[in-house]
Amino acid sequence: MIQPLVDPFQRAISYLRVSVTDRCDFRCVYCMSENMTFLPKKELLSLEELDRLCSAFVRLGVRKLRITGGEPLVRRGIMTFFQTMSRHLDSGALDEMTITTNGSQLEKYADDLYAAGLRRINVSLDTLDEAKFAQITRWGRLPQVLRGLDAAQRAGLKVKLNTVALKGFNEEELFTLTAFCADRGMDLTFIEVMPMGDIGNEDRLSQYWALTDLRARLAERFTVTDLPDRTGGPARYVRLEETGQKIGFITPLTHNFCESCNRVRVTCTGEIYTCLGQEGKSDLRAPLRASESDVQLEEAIRAAIALKPRGHDFDYSRQRPDGQMSRHMSHTGG
Ligand code: SAM
Ligand code: SF4
Repeated sequence: MIQPLVDPFQRAISYLRVSVTDRCDFRCVYCMSENMTFLPKKELLSLEELDRLCSAFVRLGVRKLRITGGEPLVRRGIMTFFQTMSRHLDSGALDEMTITTNGSQLEKYADDLYAAGLRRINVSLDTLDEAKFAQITRWGRLPQVLRGLDAAQRAGLKVKLNTVALKGFNEEELFTLTAFCADRGMDLTFIEVMPMGDIGNEDRLSQYWALTDLRARLAERFTVTDLPDRTGGPARYVRLEETGQKIGFITPLTHNFCESCNRVRVTCTGEIYTCLGQEGKSDLRAPLRASESDVQLEEAIRAAIALKPRGHDFDYSRQRPDGQMSRHMSHTGG
């Protein structure tokens, strides 16, 4: 009988997010600086190592796996990883395998993702205005992402949009984005901008648009009903009664969600972060590479979970981005 993963605060760990690359074909202004130095390729876990690592977590009780990055779909050969990992969906060991993507490669891969057992995906999209899209992603092109969304829906994937709420940037698109999702039958989640990594000349506080304000604006036009749904994550949900739409809010700054946190993150180099908002990490690559057996790896995973902190310390209330993390979101995987 395998002991499940339970942290010191009695939270069972059932959700793993894995970053499979730190690279990306976009340079979103809140996520990366324009000139990023990426890791040498040899530092990355190979696709086989990623499979071994994820499979060890599945054995230890992880039921949900999210693949992220960087942009996961720019990792060479990544479809092989999804295809081999789909055995855990077939066996029933995993409830869900999913992905967070910027959508740029979906036109190419949507059918393959569906074939590998993915059913729901998150696509990040902050604006429907082509010029603004180019501005916020620096390198991205909106029509490519829209074609990706079409391909995903055609393939049968349920799509949720993730939109970072950015003051003075997409405030006036609130209702356009909401209607876009309602028309296409997509859920929508807004995310507060988090202080992750050096982003060059951009100023965090000027980007920050509190979701309490966003919600109040939605309530000017819609009847907003709180929903009890919690996924162990930071999102809280409401329903817009007039459209029946479900809208999520990820508010690490205005609400603390840590008490029900069921997740851990692994980077593309095999570091495990048991809290997005703390610097604490442990290395899983050395135990993974130390032997062909997974005994050391499982011990290292358990040891890391035993150090999972109670919660993050993000705080903008003192008019500076307290709790700032030195690493970028693309490093830990958003
Ligand atoms: N490239 C993929 C994408 O954009 O969906 C996956 C990785 S990306 C780091 C994951 C999510 O993190 C995206 O929805 C992105 O908008 C969000 N993100 C990146 N930096 C952020 C920040 N500083 N604060 C809040 N969300 C951030
Ligand atoms: Fe790339 Fe995603 Fe970061 Fe944008 S948010 S730069 S798409 S990793």
